[in-house]
Amino acid sequence: MSESFFGPDFTQLQKQDPEIAAVVLSELDRQRKSLQLIASENFTSPAVLATLGSTLSNKYAEGYPGRRYYGGCEEVDKVEVIGISRAKELFGAEHANLQPHSGASANIAVYQAFTKPGDTVLAMSLPHGGHLTHGSKVNFSGKWFNVESYGVRKDNELIDYDELRDSALRVKPKMICSGATAYPSLIDFKRIREICDEVGAIMWVDAAHFIGLVAGKAIPSPVPYADVVSFTTHKVLRGPRGGMILSKAEHAAAVDKAVFPGMQGGPIMSAVAGKAVALKECATPEYQSYAKKVIENAKALAAALEKEGMRAVSGGTETHLALIDIRSTGVNGKVADERCGKAGISLNKNAIPYDPETPAVTSGIRVGTPATTTQGMGLPEMSEIAKLIARAIKEGDDDAKANSIRQEVYALTAKFPVYPR
Ligand SMILES: *Cc1c(COP(=O)(O)O)cnc(C)c1O
Repeated sequence: MSESFFGPDFTQLQKQDPEIAAVVLSELDRQRKSLQLIASENFTSPAVLATLGSTLSNKYAEGYPGRRYYGGCEEVDKVEVIGISRAKELFGAEHANLQPHSGASANIAVYQAFTKPGDTVLAMSLPHGGHLTHGSKVNFSGKWFNVESYGVRKDNELIDYDELRDSALRVKPKMICSGATAYPSLIDFKRIREICDEVGAIMWVDAAHFIGLVAGKAIPSPVPYADVVSFTTHKVLRGPRGGMILSKAEHAAAVDKAVFPGMQGGPIMSAVAGKAVALKECATPEYQSYAKKVIENAKALAAALEKEGMRAVSGGTETHLALIDIRSTGVNGKVADERCGKAGISLNKNAIPYDPETPAVTSGIRVGTPATTTQGMGLPEMSEIAKLIARAIKEGDDDAKANSIRQEVYALTAKFPVYPR
């Protein structure tokens, strides 16, 4: 048996299925050449990729280490045990579950562990930055639960904790969710804990976006306050695509039961191994300095976009992402997204608080710095990127101009190669 059986043998894929192999390569090329500013994306390490392409993928391991429903789990048990202990250590958590397949799966498990269908849950309003799983009518959360929402204040675009408390007193939720997909500021977890205690609600933090900054000790942690914290492992955290749940010891059994058998069958053991590898990376001084740079870069990018005449929602950012109100350009979010895409800049349109446009159009864009910071970009590149974005939004309807911006994007990314050969 050659060593290639332990990991991805790309030449074999090329021989056997050139059609798919070509897509894998052209996607790598796209990631290398264009600018990745989608706030939820990152470049995971070659070590994590090695676990994902490994034969751990073959193993069925329903259950938990030491109590599986299948034989032959003695090897995969080791990676899950190591991963759980790394997660508890890194976050100072009493319990960790590494099995959820994704952030949304982790959230299904949270609802299941702490609520029953029909229960009331209070979560951040979707148009103000909440996630689909926080009560959208097209999602299980909005169909099976009575999700009430709180939002941000119109004057400062920050969470209105007084409104949150008033709503909690009025609707008496079983659980209060904090955490969002498009909220650039820090969240006052202590205040939310007090509100939860006042109304007797479970405190759930969906930390999918910012958990990597917590891991890197760049922002305060929700873990000491929350009953349960769910998150994705592939955003700032820079691990494999997947989900994870941390909780207080008293909720450990409920969380584990909700994940399996409540919500999933067998865990993806190659992904569990990838999570363990990522958690080890997160515990290094290099990662801590990375997390701080991600925030510095996001602040610089937001400030540079303001210099280009656009407005940063809530006046800037304290995290890895910024929400930009682009109404001053006369271009809406949808068109800006398309124009940037043509110019080799990957970002997304995003509603701003109290957006007069529909969610399909929007008045804003969301930009994030996890990926470009992994590439090694810093403050000078952030001002260059802001200029490229501004030009793409304002001039990108002209193909020749979009093309010339694209060439400048290629020149910039060529200086910061990802997955160098
Ligand atoms: C990304 C995200 C999720 C969903 O994660 P998936 O892995 O895409 O399912 C859930 N909640 C929040 C707040 C997120 O940002």
